[in-house]
This record gives sequence, C-alpha cells and structure tokens, in this order.
Amino acid sequence: HELRRASEVVPVEEDFEIGEELGKGQFSRVCQCVNKHTLERKAVKIIEKETMDAEEKELLRAEIAIMKLVNHPNIIRMEAVYESRRHIFIVMELHSGGELFDRVNGRPRLTEDEAFCVIYPLIESVAYLHEMGIVHRDLKPENILCGQKVGDIKIADFGLSKLVLPDEIMKMPCGTLSYVAPEVLTLNGYGREADMWSVGTIMYLLLRGRLPFDIDGESREKIIERTINGTIDTDDAVWKALSQDARDLMLGLLNKDIKRRMSAKEALLHPWILSRVDRMDTEP
Ligand code: ADP
Ligand code: MG
Repeated sequence: HELRRASEVVPVEEDFEIGEELGKGQFSRVCQCVNKHTLERKAVKIIEKETMDAEEKELLRAEIAIMKLVNHPNIIRMEAVYESRRHIFIVMELHSGGELFDRVNGRPRLTEDEAFCVIYPLIESVAYLHEMGIVHRDLKPENILCGQKVGDIKIADFGLSKLVLPDEIMKMPCGTLSYVAPEVLTLNGYGREADMWSVGTIMYLLLRGRLPFDIDGESREKIIERTINGTIDTDDAVWKALSQDARDLMLGLLNKDIKRRMSAKEALLHPWILSRVDRMDTEP
C-alpha cells in the first residue's frame, strides 16, 4: 500500500532517466537508469502488468516482498518500486559486470580456486536466504551477476522465489530445465533442497565446462529423463582430474535423495570450502 501511494504521487520518470537495456525475460525488461536527483546509476526491472495472469501477479508480489526483506552483499538490493497504469518498475542496485552465463559460456573451465570465488559467496548467500525461509527456485548463471572481480557476484531475479515455512512442501514446477532438481520434475513435492541441486549444477558447469544432464543440443525430454534417472559420469577424464574434495562436494549437492543432499549450511563446512576459507583468512 505504501509503495502504491508513493508511485501515485511520483511517476518513475520524475526520479529516473531510463536508459539502455541490460537484459530481458519473459515478462520483463531490465534497463540501466540514472537517478535524476543524485545522478547515481541503477538498474530498473520493468514489468508489464497486462499480460500477467493471477499466478504470475502473485509471483511478482512475492518477488517484491522478498527483495524488500533481503540485505546481503551478494544479493541484489531493491531500492524502490513504482507503478504506472501498465507497468511495475523495480529499481535495484546496478551490478554491471554481466551475467555469470556470459563469463562461462564458450570459455575454458575455471580452476578450482577460481570456481571457489563464485561458489563460496553463492552458497553463503543461499544459506542466508534459506535461513530466512526464502527459496530462490531459479538459480542459474543468467541470474548470477558479476562485478569486476571473479568473486564479486550477486544473486538476482527473485521472480520465482517463495517464502516458505521450515517443512513446507512446494508443488509448482518451476525453474529452468538444465538446472532444476529431479524432485521438482517428478511433481511429488519439493523443498529448499532444490536450490542446492541448482548450486551443484552451477559448480559442475564451472569446473567441468558443461552441465551434468544437459549435454549439447539434446531434447527437453532427454534432459528431463537424465535429470530424473541419469547418473553423473565418474569415468570421465576431466571429472577424474578434479580434486577428491571438489568431486565429493558436487556429488553431495547433486544427490537425488533430498534427505541426503547437502544443505547450504553443510556445504559451508565441506573441506573444499573450509580449506580455502582458511587459506583466505591466513593470506595477506
Ligand atoms: P527475468 O525474471 O525476466 O529473468 P531478471 O531479474 O533475471 O529478469 O533480469 C533479466 C536480466 O537483466 C538478468 O539476467 C541480467 O542480465 C539483467 N539484470 C537484472 N538485474 C540487474 C541488475 N541489478 N544489474 C545489472 N543487470 C541486471
Ligand atoms: Mg532471470
């Protein structure tokens, strides 16, 4: 209510000059913008209301409510919301190093130390979200924004996120095929563990140079089938060249048994993470 009142008084154009497009999704466009009063550069997600059905509107309400709640250095901060007759405008901090997707797409694999710089803040911020009862549900390289340095990442796009009770079971299938957990696809209900699966697919992608169950140009059906029934190829030479700790962490995250899948908190205590955190603490 408070937000709506504010926007009726001030249209977005009065406060922001909207510029070049940064990215595009199904219902939204994200553009650069400049605060006309402070000249600070921001990002604004512009969402068209008209084409949304009731469920999509509910997700948008959740996106705004969740972004309002979060305050973490590795999560995009929301700064204001405006509404016009046809659009909602979510003004956010600008994180302009591009998507992790573009940093890894078609590039050589990362070393384990480079991958750690991305995976550690990712797991740390997912632990923060889960602690607050927030499930992201669409973790993937397109929704992880990079800064100047490798490790300067921020999680974006709470468009499918949900605030849940500790043992709440979700049913709505959502996410992005190559990163989505098997239990989301089997429609038997899922919980926050689904995010950790996605983290596992991202870690696998960074270290292995491809996704675990989406191997070049396969059909949707094949990817679904593999995600549900396939196993990770552990005979593969690149896989074998990775450290025991890295492989163990990935298998812990990509465990199909949700009761045995590593939680964010557990992952933070895994030797692959802890040994590097210790090194970070002792290095000047
Ligand atoms: P959608 O829900 O449509 O996927 P996102 O919130 O993921 O929308 O935004 C779409 C794209 O816009 C992102 O993948 C990213 O490239 C870009 N983007 C989003 N937020 C920001 C931001 N705060 N700073 C810079 N770029 C952003
Ligand atoms: Mg997105």
